[in-house]
Amino acid sequence: MDMQTQKQLNNGTYIPQLGLGVYKVPAEDVYETVGHALELGYRHIDTASFYGNEEGVGKAIQDSGIPREELFVTTKVWNDQQGFERAQQAFAASLTRLGLDYVDLYLIHWPVPDMFPETWKALEKLYQDGRTKAIGVSNFLDHHLQTLAATQQIAPAVNQIELHPKLQQRETTTYCREHGIAVESWSPLGRAKYLDDPVLMKIGKKYNKTPAQVIIRWHLQHDFIVIPKSTNKERQRQNMTVFDFQLDDGDMRLLDQLESGMRVGSHPDQPPK
Ligand code: NDP
Repeated sequence: MDMQTQKQLNNGTYIPQLGLGVYKVPAEDVYETVGHALELGYRHIDTASFYGNEEGVGKAIQDSGIPREELFVTTKVWNDQQGFERAQQAFAASLTRLGLDYVDLYLIHWPVPDMFPETWKALEKLYQDGRTKAIGVSNFLDHHLQTLAATQQIAPAVNQIELHPKLQQRETTTYCREHGIAVESWSPLGRAKYLDDPVLMKIGKKYNKTPAQVIIRWHLQHDFIVIPKSTNKERQRQNMTVFDFQLDDGDMRLLDQLESGMRVGSHPDQPPK
């Protein structure tokens, strides 16, 4: 396993298992943030129309000189853009802002009740038309996935959900595993709210790694795709220096025991407006 480790999705495409998230990176800073990350070796960037920073992400990609096929770019359709027609318009607008011909992964950001099955039809069309290499969902619990399955023609390749040691979403991850849907962890560091946890500190000391590195390693060893956000070059470097050690089974179990139902974002049944 190394920084360029890829995970194969259910449609045969590959995604770098570790990427950079850019939620809350201000539009005026994102060019530099993504530029740094690409210099360091990140090849997978997770943005969304909601983040208001797609233009800077796209510009950093263009100016990096890295061949397009070596990069993996995800964006998402926001909650007020759902429905068959609107989602297609939203996709076209995202592509224009990014300055790209295609994205690698397009996600339904939240399961807006009564809307997401129609939105999914738009994503299926975008995929069939070759405008995105893969399609998926975000913030779908197992019951949303079941509802979608009743009308979908194509299964989601990815479900991106809040996931970290204190919120492990076991019912949803089990459903995803059983149905070939890759799990991607958002707020994988729990937004840095509990990096001083004694269990994390102790395990970090054992491997000479930081708590953030221990958590990222835990995601990788659970086969989750992981997209920590940092605007800081040193922390970006730290977050990718996770392929030179392996947590043993006992330490994985200790981390699994940190589950406490602690959410840092919205509940999927109450999507933000
Ligand atoms: P993270 O769990 O990635 O935590 C980010 C926070 O941790 C920032 O404050 C960052 O500060 C800090 N941090 C990063 N690395 C370290 C480190 N090594 N040591 C100490 N602190 C660190 O939270 P996010 O909410 O940003 O989630 C990651 C990504 O997931 C998002 O950027 C977005 O792409 C995606 N996401 C998707 C959602 C969805 O609904 N689909 C919802 C929320 C997020 P600093 O920048 O100063 O380093």
